[in-house]
Amino acid sequence: MYEIFQNPYARELAEKYRPIWALHKSMALLGWDLETYMPKLGAEERGFADAQLELMLQEKITSPDFLSLLDKLERSEGLNDYERGLARVLRRNTKVYTKLPPTFVQQLASITNQASVSWREAKKASDFSKFKPDLEKIVNMMREMANYLGYEEHPYNALLDLHEEGITVKDLDGIFSAIAPSLKKTLDRIISEGYFTRRSKLEEERYNDDDMRAAEWEILKRLGYDENRFRVDVSPHPFTTSIGLNDVRITTRRKGYDFKDTFFSILHEGGHALYELQIDPALAYTPLAGGVSSGVHESQSRFMENMIARTREFVEGVLPLLSSHLDFLKKYDSEEVFVYFAHVSPNPIRVEADEVTYNFHILLRYELEKELMANEIKVDELPELWNEEMEKYLGIRPKSDAEGVLQDIHWSGGLGGFPAYTIGNVIAAQARYHAMNDIKDLYDKVSKLELNEVKAWLREKIHKWGSTYSPRELLSKSFGEGLDPSYLTSYIDQKYR
Ligand code: MG
Repeated sequence: MYEIFQNPYARELAEKYRPIWALHKSMALLGWDLETYMPKLGAEERGFADAQLELMLQEKITSPDFLSLLDKLERSEGLNDYERGLARVLRRNTKVYTKLPPTFVQQLASITNQASVSWREAKKASDFSKFKPDLEKIVNMMREMANYLGYEEHPYNALLDLHEEGITVKDLDGIFSAIAPSLKKTLDRIISEGYFTRRSKLEEERYNDDDMRAAEWEILKRLGYDENRFRVDVSPHPFTTSIGLNDVRITTRRKGYDFKDTFFSILHEGGHALYELQIDPALAYTPLAGGVSSGVHESQSRFMENMIARTREFVEGVLPLLSSHLDFLKKYDSEEVFVYFAHVSPNPIRVEADEVTYNFHILLRYELEKELMANEIKVDELPELWNEEMEKYLGIRPKSDAEGVLQDIHWSGGLGGFPAYTIGNVIAAQARYHAMNDIKDLYDKVSKLELNEVKAWLREKIHKWGSTYSPRELLSKSFGEGLDPSYLTSYIDQKYR
């Protein structure tokens, strides 16, 4: 057991972590069930069960015994990479519980709960004023939280680090100022050429669920997904969850027409799942047995979704297989299907955005969050600022609050989560460049749906390590460089030429 840990404190911590692992995974399973099969009226008791499990988890992870072992591990000399990773991850896990007063945590839980209700009502009525009072409380609490957690240079850094380890305002300012002008130029060119902006009749083609499910599974099996370790279900918002190294689950949504919606959900979540499925079994039951951050996780989903599947080569390989289940596809050639997949058009809604415009949605949210945290703008001004920014970046103006500032649920839970999406896009493009260098004729293989080599490459570079290395360490170890946004801009520019 635990041959990765030699240090006695690391071994003891790993031993003590096992019930914590079990609680985490039980909560993951309950969360999965809540989104998929739970009867509606189960919500109240489920909420109670969740809160109890959360309390048990907190109690274990903040027990004096556990924390003192962690101190000892941190003070030990000559730790190997896994032991250093263990100390790093556990310190991060305990940070919120040890730095925030319990009354603050309770208060935040209750206000975010309330805010998710008022957000729903506000969005339905498309009326920001119904959400505003709760959002004001949340923003105030986020500033307080930054003070409790501590930060350098900018209060937003405290929140960013919770979501994406080590990322700062300085990093993000650098990334966005590097990608925004170039993406804007590419977008203007795509719009003036009109090739990728035309609507495809494929958007209206209807499918039935059974055919689509059969097509998806045939593709997943061809790509090597194993039914004995992986499953697909349906939920309103597609997601991935890991119940264990050999039980990774994704969901999709099937709306009956416009099949690219479910097709790319499957590939996106399939990319997240592959990360979890390819983690080294030696990390099992430890806190290292999971993807390292939301940004790195998102890079794996974007890699599979955009760099592999949203390409001419993949379409060529997958079309015969899709057509054998979806009759309507027999009327279309592969270029038409590719243009349908790679469609570009400024859209006020983030979750419907394409590869070219997506990062502008994140930039807008990032700027507003940063200014809120620095007390430079007021919650009051958000709807108008949102619309102005949207017009500046994408040349469109949301017609309502529902289409603008109220579109995402995220702010009802706090701030700081959005930038990970752009970090994911940046790392995905970086991974693509290095994969093309390391794997001979990568895209030739993609056109034959032969992904074994690229999967093995991803396993070696990223997946197998789980959370052993911080995102920064992982990038430098695997690619010999830090976050570099220039790969993203040149990839997008080339793809849309
Ligand atoms: Mg994702």
